[in-house]
Amino acid sequence: MKVLLVGSGGREHAIAWKLSKSKNLDKLFIAPGNPGMIKYGTTVDIDVNDTAALVDFAANNDIGLVVVGPEDPLANGLVDACESAGIKAFGPSAAAARLEADKGFAKKIMKENSIPTAEGRVFDNYPDAKSYIASRDESVVVKAAGLAKGKGVHVCDEPSEAINIAEKIMCENIYGDAGRTIVVEEKLIGQEASILALVDGRTIYVLESSQDHKPVGEGDTGLNTGGMGAYSPTPLVNENMLDQITREVLVPVVDGMNRCGSPFRGVLYAGIMVTQAGPRVLEFNVRFGDPETQPVLMRLKTDLLEVMLAVCEGRLDKMTLDWDRRPAVCVVMSSGGYPGSYEKGKEITGVENAMELDDVMVFHAGTKIENGKLVTAGGRVLGVTAMGDTLKEAQKRAYEAVDLITFEGAYCRRDIGSKALK
Ligand code: ATP
Repeated sequence: MKVLLVGSGGREHAIAWKLSKSKNLDKLFIAPGNPGMIKYGTTVDIDVNDTAALVDFAANNDIGLVVVGPEDPLANGLVDACESAGIKAFGPSAAAARLEADKGFAKKIMKENSIPTAEGRVFDNYPDAKSYIASRDESVVVKAAGLAKGKGVHVCDEPSEAINIAEKIMCENIYGDAGRTIVVEEKLIGQEASILALVDGRTIYVLESSQDHKPVGEGDTGLNTGGMGAYSPTPLVNENMLDQITREVLVPVVDGMNRCGSPFRGVLYAGIMVTQAGPRVLEFNVRFGDPETQPVLMRLKTDLLEVMLAVCEGRLDKMTLDWDRRPAVCVVMSSGGYPGSYEKGKEITGVENAMELDDVMVFHAGTKIENGKLVTAGGRVLGVTAMGDTLKEAQKRAYEAVDLITFEGAYCRRDIGSKALK
């Protein structure tokens, strides 16, 4: 089968690597891809948001499956457009993708289905938001309801700070249309975990657990980023907790989506805060997380193409997934200054040396080839991922690999996975 993978980050590199191992893959195309993926397939210069061009390419190249990595093309309806053209696509419809693309919709589904989440309200005008925030005397979180590239969430300790940011979002439009509606919710305290599940509209298969590290600084300090590293599995989520999250979150949300006429197919990602009162949903994503996908897929032994086809064809109940029991750790190497401003075009060396280490993969994110050299081209540059017999061993090997790679201004957190070792 010929497959078109859409995306260009570390997540898509990990997906491309796994798909390339499938016995049923004849040819892989990646739009637009990155230099790390060239060894697994042919990159095609089409933007992830150019739905018409992607569908045309798939139709003209005998593509049997389109795999959609990022959230924007899902929210734009790429899966719907492929299906209308008679092409199978892995990912939710635009209507189901609202679970991520519209935090107001997600809150409504959670309320209607009694899913534990932060108590909150949705506002489409600033005066009402302002008076609600002013009436609360505890810390609140203000969220742009639309897609804001992971930057639209503000945890505010003071009501004045929350009012200020609500005004910037709703009146000064700092996130454009993504901030036309906002969610204001209580601040939850606890440890965060990411639960990813495959869903075929009916059957839910929970993937191995993982934990992301969003803040840029060690000890979870500083600004939030797209994710500075992840490890899998996480001891934070034991069997009991996973059962509880499946029962109280995943099953009701999948049922709720069926009831509202938008069945969910693809990867459902629940961002959970494990509070003293139990797990609470922070957000839903409707695709593989990045970087969590890198350590999780490193541990997957089953043919990923078969798994994705089973999801599209509603036969997930017939699938068994095999996992490598060894833990995996992914350390993100970023450009100095990220998530603020940073320079690009810095030459990267040592990637091949790092890849020679056993059970180490270096997934590319913000890289490109310029004058024949591999250079930085984004904030998150590489996801250096290693497996080990223990988490400590995986962590040690990931940092050994990191230390073989250099580029000017390179930065990484040195404590990815340490929380679980305490
Ligand atoms: P992304 O798409 O990058 O995962 P997002 O922009 O959709 O993120 P959320 O995941 O909802 O945003 O929030 C980002 C981060 O903000 C969370 O990982 C968490 O650290 C913090 N956060 C969100 N909601 C709350 C809350 N109610 N209480 C405390 N912290 C919160």
